Amino acid sequence: MVPLMRRPPWIWWVASAAVLVAYALVPQDARLVLYWVVGAFPVVAIVVLAARRRLVRPLPWLLVGAGVLAWVVGDVLWDLDAYLFHQTPTPAPADLFYLAGYPLAAAGLGVIASRRSPTRDPAGLIDAAIITIGAGVLVWVFLLVPYAQDPSLTPVSKAIAIGYPLGDLLLLALAVRLFLTPGRRVRAFRLLAAGLLITLASDIVYAVQALDGGGLLTTTAQDIGWLTGYALIGLAVLDPTVGTVDAPSRPVIALTRRRLLALALCSLLAPGVLAWQTVRGDHIDGLLIAVSASAVFLLVLLRMSGLMHHVQAQADELAVIARADSLTGLANRRAWDDELPRALGRAARMHEPLCVAMVDLDHFKAFNDTRGHPEGDRLLREAAAHWGDELRSTDLLARHGGEEFAVLLPGCSMADAERTISRVRAVTPGGQTCSAGIAAWDGGESAPELMARADAALYAAKRAGRDRAVLA
Ligand code: GH3
Ligand code: MG
Ligand code: MG
Repeated sequence: MVPLMRRPPWIWWVASAAVLVAYALVPQDARLVLYWVVGAFPVVAIVVLAARRRLVRPLPWLLVGAGVLAWVVGDVLWDLDAYLFHQTPTPAPADLFYLAGYPLAAAGLGVIASRRSPTRDPAGLIDAAIITIGAGVLVWVFLLVPYAQDPSLTPVSKAIAIGYPLGDLLLLALAVRLFLTPGRRVRAFRLLAAGLLITLASDIVYAVQALDGGGLLTTTAQDIGWLTGYALIGLAVLDPTVGTVDAPSRPVIALTRRRLLALALCSLLAPGVLAWQTVRGDHIDGLLIAVSASAVFLLVLLRMSGLMHHVQAQADELAVIARADSLTGLANRRAWDDELPRALGRAARMHEPLCVAMVDLDHFKAFNDTRGHPEGDRLLREAAAHWGDELRSTDLLARHGGEEFAVLLPGCSMADAERTISRVRAVTPGGQTCSAGIAAWDGGESAPELMARADAALYAAKRAGRDRAVLA
C-alpha cells in the first residue's frame, strides 16, 4: 500500500472537496467531527512531513501549523460549549486559543517572507505598508470602534472582541508582505495565500455579523469558509512545490500595473471612509483618517524617491555603457566623436598644440584566420591595455573601429606625439606589429578634417610596408 503521505496530491484535493460537500449535507453532530478532522488536516500534514524530514527548513510551516492547531483547539472548545453544553460564554476559553493562533501563523508567514527576500527590500515593505494601512482604516472604523463602544460588553469581552480584528490585521499585514515578496508564486505559495485569505474573509464576515446582532453562532456558509481555509493550507503543505515556497529572490523595484492599481485603491480607502462618513452624517474619525492618509502620502513619496533613484542609477549606468567599447573597455567611437571637438575647442582657448593618431594592427585578418577569432579578441584586449599604459591620464585612447584605434594627445607637439606613438607601437603584444598615422592639429581645421589627415597618414604607413608611423 502507498503510504498516506506519498499519495499524489490530487487525492487530497478530492478528499478535501468531498469532506466540504459532505459537511453541508450531514446532521449537526457529524458536522462537529468533520470540522475537527478538516482542522486537524494541515496540522497533521505539517507534523508528519516535518517528522519525516520531507519539509526542508520546516520552521515557518511549524509556526503556521501551531497557529492552525491553536485555532482548531479553539474550535473544539467552542463546539463543546455551544453544541454539547448549549452555552456561548463571553469570554470563552476558546477565545484564548483563537487569539493565540494569529501571531503564530503571522510569524510563520514572516519567516517565509524574509527567506524569499533575504536582501533589503524597501519597495516591497512600503507597498505592503500602504495596503495594510488602507485595510487598517476599514478594520478600525467598521470593527474596532463599534466593539469598543458597545455598551453590552464587559471590559474583558471588549478586549477580546477587539483582539480578533487586530489579529486579522496582523495576519493580513504579513500575508500582504509575503504576497509582495519577489520570486515565483509556486502552487503551494498560492494555496497558502488563498487559504489565509479565505480564513480572513470568514473572520471578517463573522465579526460584522456578530456586530449586527447576528449572535455568536456561525452559519454553514461561514463554517465552510473556515474549513476551505484549513483545507487549502493542508493542500499547500502536501503540494510537491512546497519546498520552493521560501526560495530566495532579488528584490524588484519596478511597479507592475496590477500592483499600482492595488496601491491606488488602498491609498484611496482613508479618504473614501471620510467621504462615506460625511455623506451619511456619521461620526467622523478625523484624526485616524488624517494620520493614515498622511502616512500613506509619505510612503508614496518615499516609494517615488526610491523609483527616481533607481531610474537615475540605471540612466548613469546606461550612459557609461553607451560610451564604452564592450570588448576592450576603452572609449568607443561615440565617445571619441564627442570628445575630439571638445578637445579642439579647449586647445584653441589655451593656445596649445594637439595631435591625433590612428593606430591599426598589421595583418590582423591573417592573425584571426590562423589563431581564431577568440585569440583575435584577446589580442585586441591586451593591445588596448598595453597601449593605454603608455599614455598619460589626459590622453584618450578609443576603439575607433574593428582593429583600428584613435589616440588623442592634447598639449603634444608633433615631436612629442611621434615619441609617444613609437612607445605605444613598441608594446604591441603577441609578437604583432601595428602601423600609425599621426596628424598635428593646424589650429583651424575641424575634427573630421583632422581625422581624415591622420587616416591618410595611416594608409601611407600601410602602403610603405607597415610596422611604422607616418606623419601627416
Ligand atoms: P592591415 O595590415 O592592412 O591592416 O590588414 P588587416 O588584416 O589588419 O586589416 P583588414 O581590414 O583586412 O582586416 C581587419 C580584420 O579585423 C578583419 C576582421 O575580421 C577583424 N576584426 C574586426 N573586429 C574584430 C573583433 O572585434 N574581434 C576580432 N577577433 N577580429 C576583428
Ligand atoms: Mg589592420
Ligand atoms: Mg583596419
